[in-house]
Amino acid sequence: MGKTTKKNAKGKIVIDIELCKGCKYCAMACPKGCISMSRDFNSMGYFVAHFEHPEKCTGCAVCAQMCPEIAIEVWKE
Ligand code: SF4
Ligand code: SF4
Repeated sequence: MGKTTKKNAKGKIVIDIELCKGCKYCAMACPKGCISMSRDFNSMGYFVAHFEHPEKCTGCAVCAQMCPEIAIEVWKE
């Protein structure tokens, strides 16, 4: 009961899907498993990254550091 609260830093990311090349680095790098690959593709035809589990994000910014396209912005709450 009430055990699910986690008072760690909370974060949020914004993925610019038009910059994304679908390399999956962010999805593989996220220690919390927040990012999955979407079935939707962008105008370049790449399947893009999707922020699937925002509730788990700590704002660590590992995903943004891994992204070769600088497609991810990280916000900390
Ligand atoms: S900021 Fe950290 S926890 Fe949040 S999606 Fe990126 S790698 Fe995962
Ligand atoms: S690391 Fe960047 S380019 Fe690669 S899938 Fe993630 S958002 Fe897209």
